[in-house]
Amino acid sequence: MTPVDHAEGWNKQRKKTATGWYDNLCRAADPDQVSNHMRRQQPMRSVTAYATSDRKAPFHKTTIQRRDLGPGDVLIKIAFAGICHTDIHTARGEWGDVIFPLVPGHEMAGVVEEIGAGVTKYAVGDRVGVGCMVDSCRECDNCLAGEQQYCLNGPVYTYNCIGKDGRPTEGGYSTHIVVDQDFVLAIPAGIDLDVAAPLLCAGVTLYSPLKHWGAGPGTSLAIVGLGGLGHMGVKIAHALGAEVSVLSQSLSKQADGRRLGADNYYATADPATFKQLKHRFDLIVSTVSATLPMHSYLSMLRLDGTLVNVGAPLDPLSVPASSLMDKRLRLAGSSIGGIRETQEMLNFCAEHGLGAEIEVISADQIDVAYDRVVDSDVRYRFVINTATF
Ligand SMILES: [Zn+2]
Ligand SMILES: [Zn+2]
Repeated sequence: MTPVDHAEGWNKQRKKTATGWYDNLCRAADPDQVSNHMRRQQPMRSVTAYATSDRKAPFHKTTIQRRDLGPGDVLIKIAFAGICHTDIHTARGEWGDVIFPLVPGHEMAGVVEEIGAGVTKYAVGDRVGVGCMVDSCRECDNCLAGEQQYCLNGPVYTYNCIGKDGRPTEGGYSTHIVVDQDFVLAIPAGIDLDVAAPLLCAGVTLYSPLKHWGAGPGTSLAIVGLGGLGHMGVKIAHALGAEVSVLSQSLSKQADGRRLGADNYYATADPATFKQLKHRFDLIVSTVSATLPMHSYLSMLRLDGTLVNVGAPLDPLSVPASSLMDKRLRLAGSSIGGIRETQEMLNFCAEHGLGAEIEVISADQIDVAYDRVVDSDVRYRFVINTATF
């Protein structure tokens, strides 16, 4: 199967089987565009990666092809790649169709090894990162507003998507990646690369809604769930000056939560918590993928409060309209952040000495790490050291 057949076939399959929101994640595979790009027969370079060939298969070492550098491209030697829960949902086929073999990873940090002739933003040796997107249409209203994550033509996601060259995109579980300079982020001095990697997805996924809904001095907010996303939410919200509460199923991580910056910590398994916290918060950010009892959570908001979902429950949320009407509440969602905002987040984290809490693993531990993430047995992000590839 040629890459063109691969890309077009996949695109048709996606349309035929489209269900739910995940299918909107990758709409860059316009067959005309694919064909035009593939006719150029770009030269490639081989790099080492870890891939999975089926939704139940373990990861294996392999060689993949990265495109040769175009004028605006940056070749990055990846040092660390975070394991996001999205990697697992995708690799296991839980969120729709998958392009196998799959190289996941959209939290990577490394160093610029080579630049294209027209690159102005980065130089060889710069510390850089790549997050969930490697391109977008750059023309729609949302792209022009710098909100590429909401590109009306679908951003090009870092993996399991079709790039503008017509080939499936492959992510950060790899020694190298080639990315257009406009989708590369600078990692400021002061953040080590290993703790910076998870900021590229988990960090900005929390930073964006916290900024958008005005978290800061005088606001009282709650983060639901203290996992990979939630722990960054606590750190960032605390650094923004908000009063931060964690809503977790139990109090088992309370000491951690307080160490990371939480002022309060509550167990949602205790029904008394919801009574105690009635009309308590201006903002609640839910990072969990469980379907929450919305009425109970909305009851904790004050007048004009907002509940934002950044976790993605598979089942629809059931929301009594009266729960929203009673206090003019807003139920919202948010997805990662734009490139400008991601850079702002990295600068903010450097200024405040923030990085992710991580456990560094070697390449042969990816499968075990996946199982442990599913069991919530990680504090708080696994990061793969690509020196072990
Ligand atoms: Zn992610
Ligand atoms: Zn766009």
